[in-house]
Amino acid sequence: MKPAEAGNGPGGEDRQVSRGLPDIPADFLPRTAAGQAGLAALLADPQRALIGLDFDGTLSPIVADPRAARAHPGAVTALRALARRVGTLAIITGRQAAKAVQYGGLADVPGLVVLGHYGWERWADGEITSPPAPPGVAAVRRLLPGMLSAAGAPPGTWTEDKGHAIAVHMRRTADPAAALRLLRPSLEKLAAQEGLLAQPGKMVIELRPRGIDKGAALKSLFSERASRVVLFCGDDIGDIPAFTAVGELRDQGIPGVTVCSGSAEVNELAAASDLVVDGPAGVVALLDWLAGRLGRAR
Ligand SMILES: [Mg+2]
Repeated sequence: MKPAEAGNGPGGEDRQVSRGLPDIPADFLPRTAAGQAGLAALLADPQRALIGLDFDGTLSPIVADPRAARAHPGAVTALRALARRVGTLAIITGRQAAKAVQYGGLADVPGLVVLGHYGWERWADGEITSPPAPPGVAAVRRLLPGMLSAAGAPPGTWTEDKGHAIAVHMRRTADPAAALRLLRPSLEKLAAQEGLLAQPGKMVIELRPRGIDKGAALKSLFSERASRVVLFCGDDIGDIPAFTAVGELRDQGIPGVTVCSGSAEVNELAAASDLVVDGPAGVVALLDWLAGRLGRAR
């Protein structure tokens, strides 16, 4: 992943802003020239834009029990307003698509596409499509309890069966960081043995099919929709492939913006982003502003 480009200094950024990006609130002004160009392109041609958003930590506050996650108040209103004004609005999540739709209350967002399991499955118009899970997932399901026991997994370690993938959560243990360090080697070994990927996240490791990530999902949807500009917003290291995809599209001359839903837990994504907003509340504020701005332009 390329780090975010340094700005040209306050003077250069100001000149760029006055040329291409009038009336951008300071909270939503990308700090990089490439990000500013991406936002300007999105505002200029929203019907050719793809806006992709992660769910947990981006549209919904992180909670100890992932089953208790709910969209931030105002998220659905903002998404509904934005959905009518941009070419493609998508949620790209590690969750099952159906859970994101349910927990997010997203079923009534017009035209929304929800790519679940990092793009393994797709929800659109109330229908879910996905290929069958690879055999390695069934093997992990069978072997994981014994492995966790043998590795000395501490109380509070919790396994989430997503159907196509299996996540081991450490957030509810007494020392999540220590639990992650303890279990990671065994989980990586098991994943490799069964031909799966061990993807770390926020106090979680997910064992899932290889070659499936948010970057591949974002690029595939971008191509399918014949989009011309992209914005992606995430909060976690699982979103890094999507940030990388935006960078690769920019290398091809396609404008794009990366937005980080700020969090104290993961700084790597913030460092690589064009714009950092203040968690799910900041993301919703950005979506609200975008919808208002695009509505006004019509
Ligand atoms: Mg997230």
